[in-house]
Amino acid sequence: MATDQGLSSVYEPGRVERKWYQYWKDNNYFAPVNDYSKKPFSIVMPPPNVTGSLHLGHALDNTLQDILARWRRMQGYNTLWLPGTDHAGIATQAKVEEALLQEGLTRQQLGREKFLERVWDWKAQYGSRITEQLSFLGSSCDWTRERFTMDEGCSKAVREVFVNLYEKGLIYQGEYITNWCTKCKTAISDIEVEHEDSDGHLWHIRYPVKNSQDFIIVATTRPETMLGDTGVAVHPDDERYKHLVGQKVILPLMNREIPIFADEYVDREFGTGAVKVTPAHDPNDFDMGIRHGLEQLRVIDEIGVMNENAGEYAGLERQEARKAIVRDLQTGGYLIKVEDHRHAVGHCQRCNSIIEPMISTQWFVKMQPLAKPAIEKVVSGDIQFIPERFTRIYLNWMENIRDWCISRQLWWGHRIPVWYCDDCGEVICSKTDPTECPQCLGTDLRQDEDVLDTWFSSALWPFSTMGWPEQTDDLKYFYPTSVLVTGRDIIFFWVARMIFSGLEHTGEIPFHQVNIHGLILDGQGRKMSKSLGNGIDPIEVIEKYGADTLRFSLITGVTPGNDVRFHWEKVENTRNFANKIWNASRFVIMNLEGYEKIEINLNDYTLADRWIISRLNQRAEEVNHLLERYDLGEAAKVLYDFIWDEFCDWYIELAKPRLSPTADKSEKLIAQNVLVETLTGILRLLHPFMPFITEEIYHYLPGHNETIMLDSWPVKDDERIWQSSLDEMQQIMSVIRALRNIRAEFNVSPGAQIKTLLVVNDENYRQVFTANQAYIKQMARVNALEIVRELSQKPAQAVSALTNQAEIYVPLEGIIDIDKEIARLEKDLKGALDELARAEGKLNNQNFISRAPQEVIEKEKGKAEEARIRKEGIRQRLEILKQA
Ligand SMILES: [Zn+2]
Ligand SMILES: [Zn+2]
Repeated sequence: MATDQGLSSVYEPGRVERKWYQYWKDNNYFAPVNDYSKKPFSIVMPPPNVTGSLHLGHALDNTLQDILARWRRMQGYNTLWLPGTDHAGIATQAKVEEALLQEGLTRQQLGREKFLERVWDWKAQYGSRITEQLSFLGSSCDWTRERFTMDEGCSKAVREVFVNLYEKGLIYQGEYITNWCTKCKTAISDIEVEHEDSDGHLWHIRYPVKNSQDFIIVATTRPETMLGDTGVAVHPDDERYKHLVGQKVILPLMNREIPIFADEYVDREFGTGAVKVTPAHDPNDFDMGIRHGLEQLRVIDEIGVMNENAGEYAGLERQEARKAIVRDLQTGGYLIKVEDHRHAVGHCQRCNSIIEPMISTQWFVKMQPLAKPAIEKVVSGDIQFIPERFTRIYLNWMENIRDWCISRQLWWGHRIPVWYCDDCGEVICSKTDPTECPQCLGTDLRQDEDVLDTWFSSALWPFSTMGWPEQTDDLKYFYPTSVLVTGRDIIFFWVARMIFSGLEHTGEIPFHQVNIHGLILDGQGRKMSKSLGNGIDPIEVIEKYGADTLRFSLITGVTPGNDVRFHWEKVENTRNFANKIWNASRFVIMNLEGYEKIEINLNDYTLADRWIISRLNQRAEEVNHLLERYDLGEAAKVLYDFIWDEFCDWYIELAKPRLSPTADKSEKLIAQNVLVETLTGILRLLHPFMPFITEEIYHYLPGHNETIMLDSWPVKDDERIWQSSLDEMQQIMSVIRALRNIRAEFNVSPGAQIKTLLVVNDENYRQVFTANQAYIKQMARVNALEIVRELSQKPAQAVSALTNQAEIYVPLEGIIDIDKEIARLEKDLKGALDELARAEGKLNNQNFISRAPQEVIEKEKGKAEEARIRKEGIRQRLEILKQA
């Protein structure tokens, strides 16, 4: 694919990226063939919602997976990264309903069957957007194995699982309190509820004690639910109420008798320490109700209207009912006081209406028996969380797990495979659609209207996608998968459910390791959200900067499990990094005339050659080690420093004299060989992180194969790490850095040559410095370098510095105008002192300290500290110059 001409002068990601992605796909590099002679490595992609478009969270998640997949593939593992999408029940249904609304239609008007046709049409039209966007990112997933949670195979797996659990008695129907959206008219899961703080009230209501002058005051944020109260609870140790426990109160407005009981759940500090208990409309009250055998009395219906149990308030919408009830309580003398009260209110993620906790008949999975093995496998270490701290979070949840409400009152999803015979009342649960009742042979069968929670099918994802319940080759070869990479926000909803589902249905763990990553926050550390308008479209970043830049900047600074901030500076830095690699590679490629691969004697290498080869081998091991620990951000940093600093800024510079037209031919050939070896190694190490630019450059290098993707991963070669060369080079670099420092501090003009005297006591190092003095001369612009064992006389007007092996003297006479420099430094000193006085003045001002936000104060402290350091530095330099 490469041309004979060199690399273009400027790197254009847009031109390169589409080309290579197509090439990889066309050559089936992403699609592994099961080969039992090779070790498998497999990842299933957390399926994005089919309604979705790529956000930065996906981009990070998939970049991490792609790095692991490409790395393992290069290591020789037969690698499968299996992609797919989730049908996302409520999200997708809402999208299509929105579209229908444009036509003035509701789903009810259309009917279930027609509506579902519309959803499938919608999916056909828009459902591949997200997968296409994933390919722009460079994801090396096997599209030939792409799955959808509602495709035939996954649907079959869902049925199989439901029926198996049902037959084992692990699925049941029951009354349960769930989050109910009165607008979407469905139960929704906890994850679909968004809690927002809002200003409300706390109403204090007097409940008279039966046959007594006594009363009890309860405080509530939702007075309308009092109509459904079936008890009043106090803390067992609360002295104020001990004498009332076991008695009854008369519920105002309803004139019902309800018991006063004691429960540890009650918070004595909140309100009056006595709480009304409405088991049918509050999840905590529901639990208390179960503990104390209270009646569950529903007073609000599915659409948020008070029902027949609400007495004279029946038929009122819940907000209206609240007004009427508060009014009547006041009239009756039951309302003691109303306080302002800010508290979290649950809203539907889809439609933003207030969630109504409500009792309804739902399907459940019994969790205790399933949780047990899922706990054991994590405790034993068979499944490992990275970072380790998530183990505790997982175990806590699993140990306290509640039964899983799996039914949703939606149309889009896996319909519950249960049929009712209206003739004899038989309930049929079946893998295939029954045509007649097995009991009475009647054909009047009605399928349960509900569908399953979307997570029910995603819980099966690691094995349903590989063909389970059939014993397919993929399942045998690639399952259990190697690692799951996912965000910390779905450990309970997804990771935990995959673990118990895998164990229950396949008898095996679904994955060996779980690599948890954090969220991407904006530059100020806030979650990205539509309402804040602080989201960043990854596709825009790709279009402007290229996918490699997006990928690399996303993982820069990422540590396992922790959130990471997105900064545009990171993107710009990475773009510069890509350009740096491009330009360095271009330089190497343009200087390969006459190149051939040769065997080189160790003695023919220069010190810099041996150093860079040693560093390449050390860095290869470091990167590999970090990848094994899933510390991908740190691995990226190691590569960044190695490439930018050591390879580009040191080695290439040091190699330049040997590449000049006048250089010795055999020396040039050695330099060319080292450059090719190192650059090829670098590209291979960098490929998993920046797949496109590395592939493009790779094809211009001699000795390349058909793709860098399948080239081998660099492995540390101990024979090619020379410790003495590393040490020696380190000492020379220290001297060069010290000289550069002196030049900068004393304002030596960049073009000026300096004189240097090195005092080196150590015999060996004196030889090293002498043999490699060309490096010092070149890199620090030294035209006269003297290396001595002992200082006979300190040079006049000289600045000195010290490294481990050398005392350095640089006479400044004739290089800078010392008087002028003193004047300049004195001016700088004044500037620093002024700044320090200004900042300290502010910090000593009580008014400022007490009023300014903490971050402003911190910033001011930083400025003061900086000025202090600057002042000290200038003073030292002045002292040197004045002595000189
Ligand atoms: Zn809703
Ligand atoms: Zn029947």
